[in-house]
Amino acid sequence: MESITQSPPSDFIRDIIDADITSGRRPETIATRFPPEPNGYPHIGHAKSICLNFGIASQYGGTCNLRLDDTDPSGEGMEYVESIIRDVKWLGFDWGESLYFASNYYEQIYRYAVALIKKGLAYVCDLSAEEMREYRGTLTQPGKESPFRGRSIDENIDLFERMRAGEFADGARVLRAKIDMASPNVALRDPVIYRIKKTSHYRTGDAWCIYPMYDFAHCLSDYIEGISHSICTLEFENNRPLYEWFLDKLVEKPHPRQIEFARLNLNFTVMSKRKLMELVDRKLVTGWDDPRMPTLSGMRRRGYTPESIRNFCEIIGVSKNDSLIDMSLLENCVREDLNDRAPRVMAVLRPLRVIIDNYPEGKEEELDCPYHPKNPGMGSRKAPFTRELFIEKDDFMEVPAKKFFRLFPGKEVRLRCGYLIRCVGIVKDSETGEVTEIHCTYDPQTRSGFAPDGRKVDATIHWVSAAHATVVEARLYDRLFSVPEPLAQEGAFIDYINPGSVEALTSCRLEKGISFDRMNGPLQFERLGYFIADCRDSSADAPVFNRTVTLRDAWAKISGKGK
Ligand code: ATP
Ligand code: MG
Repeated sequence: MESITQSPPSDFIRDIIDADITSGRRPETIATRFPPEPNGYPHIGHAKSICLNFGIASQYGGTCNLRLDDTDPSGEGMEYVESIIRDVKWLGFDWGESLYFASNYYEQIYRYAVALIKKGLAYVCDLSAEEMREYRGTLTQPGKESPFRGRSIDENIDLFERMRAGEFADGARVLRAKIDMASPNVALRDPVIYRIKKTSHYRTGDAWCIYPMYDFAHCLSDYIEGISHSICTLEFENNRPLYEWFLDKLVEKPHPRQIEFARLNLNFTVMSKRKLMELVDRKLVTGWDDPRMPTLSGMRRRGYTPESIRNFCEIIGVSKNDSLIDMSLLENCVREDLNDRAPRVMAVLRPLRVIIDNYPEGKEEELDCPYHPKNPGMGSRKAPFTRELFIEKDDFMEVPAKKFFRLFPGKEVRLRCGYLIRCVGIVKDSETGEVTEIHCTYDPQTRSGFAPDGRKVDATIHWVSAAHATVVEARLYDRLFSVPEPLAQEGAFIDYINPGSVEALTSCRLEKGISFDRMNGPLQFERLGYFIADCRDSSADAPVFNRTVTLRDAWAKISGKGK
């Protein structure tokens, strides 16, 4: 018998891990971590890293820690910690008991710094930031040694303790590793490992006024947690020798093995937390969870599912080369997932009133509409059919354009789940000339959607009963930026925000009887796209929907020629 099993992904990172297991370098448990700094909400780029780290842990029967890499007191906060916890969980990953904070290791990391000083491998330096830059040299020129490099171990210990005690002002002194000012790798030219910053930390309060630099804290945090493979993005490649230097000088083997991969870049958006923060601070979006944002909270609010994001991350894979991924690839993953899971309902975004002249006033029939064309298990509901309906404005043209197969005077179309109707007249606003109402007749013989005489119609359109439908708001989203690479443009990236990135339609009509629960899950508004009730602004009395994504062009199959 043939069995179909999904093979686990394979890539250069997994190859390295496989080799480490077979060579015996890391025969024991594989341990990874996702190490965000809590200074912003997670975005789709983080999702790539989350899926990779948690995915590898689960594939190898290992563990993945969630570590808040909180070594910089400015800009970090609980709001961000909470968003990270919420979003990683939502994506479907579980760190068990292993939620850690780099700030928990401050004392330990401080002791490592003292150990470096005692080995004569770190010194307190009084150069100003600007002087240090000058002394550092360039990519082509070696740096110059600091005049404070020769301080004795005792003096360094004394000064470092006094730095901790708060005796000196911010920026007055730093602790530096004593490595090599002539190294071709600038990262090794006596990097700063501790600085004075008299700023309260969101977790440690005022307990500390010196903070370890990321480069020092990160590799040690990985070591402290027993991380076997420290997976990070390419910008840390040059720092790897520095991390190895710290670990070699301070701790036993085995050390975490660092492996770098290319960040995810998506077109028509920006991905750095700093840039996203700017959009939020300047109120160019409604918040971190604005449905146009590439944040996980924005995507969740817009109706993206965790499954579709995980699938996207698997499809794009990992590599060593930077690339720009097309937003439509992500949208397609969302569509594919929603196509299977979203019940179909009917809604009209821009209503046009239709009167069925030959349908008795006050009469009401219930037409059976399945929730899913391919999944009868999803059941069906009854759509009330009455003399007055709403259809989509776009589905009518007084003077049909070429290849317009939907409703126009004299033309017959099918109503979804029901009758054939023919347009027999129109009413216009005498001032504006706009069509305000159209008159049709229905063929009572066509309740099944088909005419007994076998005549065909070109199109099927959606509709709702005017008397029964609920007024709802629908927010239609487009890409946040109008150019593929907003950061590569001249001038400020915010000048390239797409002015049409959101359009709110406030007098839409949704068929009756869609429960509040159902609204809060994905829905397909037939022919219009996938929608979900907005988690902030929607209520049972005044539903507000976000359009998650439009339908594939395949909707043309329903509304275009034939059925
Ligand atoms: P940003 O540049 O958006 O501010 P960051 O790298 O400063 O992101 P961190 O909180 O340090 O954000 O990131 C946590 C983890 O997520 C890191 O391991 C980082 O490498 C990874 N990560 C961040 N952005 C991306 C991305 N675009 N693609 C893949 N991984 C990413
Ligand atoms: Mg960072």
